[in-house]
Amino acid sequence: MPRYDAPVRDMQFVLHELLQLQNHANLPGFADASPETIDQILDEGAKFAKNVLFPLNAVGDKQGCRRAADASVKTPDGFPEAYKQLVENGWPLLSAHPEMGGQGLPHVVNIAWTEMVSSSNMAFGMYPGLTHGAYQALMAGGSDELKAKYGPKMASGEWAGTMNLTEPHCGTDLGLMKTKAVPQGDGSYKITGQKIWISGGEQDLTGNIIHLVLARIEGGPEGIKGISLFVVPKYFVNEDGSLGARNACQCGGLEEKMGIHGNATCVMNYDGATGWLVGEEHKGMRTMFVMMNEARLGVGLQGMAQAEVAYQNALDFARDRVQGRSLTGVQAPEKPADPIIVHPDVRRMLLEQKAFLEGARAFVYWMAFQGDLQHKSPDAAVQQKAEDYMALLTPVVKAYLTHKGYESANLGLQVHGGSGFTREWGLEQIVRDCRISLIYEGTNGVQALDLVGRKLGANGGRAVFSFFAEIDEFITENEKMEGLELYIEGLKTVRAQLQDGTMWLMQNGMSDFNNAGASSHDYLHLMGLTALAFMWARMAKIALEKRDSGDPFYAAKLATGRYFVERMLPDAPAHLAKVKTGAAAMMALDAAQF
Ligand SMILES: Cc1cc2nc3c(=O)[nH]c(=O)nc-3n(C[C@H](O)[C@H](O)[C@H](O)COP(=O)(O)OP(=O)(O)OC[C@H]3O[C@@H](n4cnc5c(N)ncnc54)[C@H](O)[C@@H]3O)c2cc1C
Repeated sequence: MPRYDAPVRDMQFVLHELLQLQNHANLPGFADASPETIDQILDEGAKFAKNVLFPLNAVGDKQGCRRAADASVKTPDGFPEAYKQLVENGWPLLSAHPEMGGQGLPHVVNIAWTEMVSSSNMAFGMYPGLTHGAYQALMAGGSDELKAKYGPKMASGEWAGTMNLTEPHCGTDLGLMKTKAVPQGDGSYKITGQKIWISGGEQDLTGNIIHLVLARIEGGPEGIKGISLFVVPKYFVNEDGSLGARNACQCGGLEEKMGIHGNATCVMNYDGATGWLVGEEHKGMRTMFVMMNEARLGVGLQGMAQAEVAYQNALDFARDRVQGRSLTGVQAPEKPADPIIVHPDVRRMLLEQKAFLEGARAFVYWMAFQGDLQHKSPDAAVQQKAEDYMALLTPVVKAYLTHKGYESANLGLQVHGGSGFTREWGLEQIVRDCRISLIYEGTNGVQALDLVGRKLGANGGRAVFSFFAEIDEFITENEKMEGLELYIEGLKTVRAQLQDGTMWLMQNGMSDFNNAGASSHDYLHLMGLTALAFMWARMAKIALEKRDSGDPFYAAKLATGRYFVERMLPDAPAHLAKVKTGAAAMMALDAAQF
């Protein structure tokens, strides 16, 4: 049986020592997030994840969701009770707005809790996760009336939210969307069309489901510019807040999938369902991006979170399983063989996981903190920089962390040998569940295109130049620190490689767009490595300062960071070389020659 114990110590390290949230009490909500409060949240969250959500993970996988003839959907046994507890304990309210009944705590605190949910039960976690995203989009773009009507119950999780973009003929290319909206003259619209693969489109966890649906208003412009966003409740909501009649939308079927069986992936049919516009006509994508950006950070987090649970179990296995003897002599003479953790190759797999995980955790929490700064800092320059980072690096979090997270989960399986391939050990479920994170919320290939095509050059490259400047400042301030040389040198080198790749793209990507497309995957990975190198250098600095405290945590941090620099950063020049080959080899064959 697999286990999950939230990595509370490492989370504390990132929140208290790396980000030092306690030093930002001037930001709204941060004064309430003292280290003691955060520690309490982490401890309680860890218990909930371990005792309530994780035991349902395998159950959900085995049983899946079931649709009845009346189009209702039953989630796996135990999910409704766990969800009820989640709401009763107020977990969804952590970072929701106080005026909606929320606690108004920093988003980055919510991210730590979300990591625990995503590690312990990814399929379950998608229900509150998407609700939070839908709630944020409504808060960003909805009228006061819509916010008042739906906000508080979505914030608390009593009602769920969904996002409806995909249609059978349009996934990446949303400009092809056919779902239409016809104005009724009373402020409402009739929505007609079919959406597919809608996560949590129907379920038995909440009293109402608030669908956010993209559709084209009849007569609106063609393509992506003619798409509007609507709120379409499953049940109408009366003036007094009670539930009214059923709206004309229902689940037409459930998808059978490779993983996340506990999450209902629905075909949703809208047959003249009544909806209300969120934001302006034809500008739906703008508001939907609020939800999608949040969701993208959440999906990056999923990749990492699944890798974490794989790592914990791989580590247990490697300490316990005895096979062969150490290359340098017997280590456990009392046993018939040594535990496999003595073997360098097993250590390679474990350290690949650990060094990725700790760097990735720092990166995604740092990004969530940027989200807080973007919305809460009183300083316009800080806000601007944070907004630039969110735009530039969200695709990197999404694609790099899911790609590497999936690789890492697979390494966890590999450490288990044949046991990893069997169901009993839980690793094969982790690998299957994790796989979707590379696909939904915009495939990783499309994230890379977004990075090089849209984000990199925006505002004359302001975001990437700020990123370089922040790295340079850190290097200048710390390059003389004794013991930090290795980490600084690694950061310097990869930063120069990223700059080289950036210049190459700026010079060659515009003259031939295929160069940009062909280089995008490797460029994104180069940026991911640079972001992790920056996090590792900063973490190593803290660990060095505290290494004499006697806490072995810091020595382990330094050794893991060393592995990252010596064994993972050397991938950067390979990515750079591939960036610079451009499109020639990739475009040489015509479609028939493949
Ligand atoms: C389990 C699950 C849950 C989901 N949940 C939701 C949900 O809640 N709401 C929702 O709206 N959708 C949801 N989706 C849909 C998901 O977001 C899409 O699958 C995803 O955006 C990709 O679209 P697609 O599958 O149509 O792939 P396609 O767009 O057909 O892409 C196929 C391949 O072509 C590549 N490609 C496509 N266009 C380009 C291009 N211009 N340049 C380069 N490469 C390109 C892609 O990277 C991909 O590798 C879900 C999907 C799944 C499987």
